[in-house]
Amino acid sequence: MSNAYEMMAVACLCPKYMPVYDGFQSSTGEPENKSCINCSNYSEGVCNIDYYDTVAASLDQS
Ligand code: SF4
Repeated sequence: MSNAYEMMAVACLCPKYMPVYDGFQSSTGEPENKSCINCSNYSEGVCNIDYYDTVAASLDQS
């Protein structure tokens, strides 16, 4: 996986982003700190469903 900035950008575009929260959601319902780090498909430094590289590649095409 890459740097924190890229993980935020990827999470914003990823169709499989599944936010995990520490027990509660913000009052607005808006996801905070959207990033792969906060995604339930992410663990131990990798995307478990192999979306990261695909989404990151689409970032590079912009
Ligand atoms: S961890 Fe995987 S599924 Fe989750 S936002 Fe990142 S690339 Fe998408």
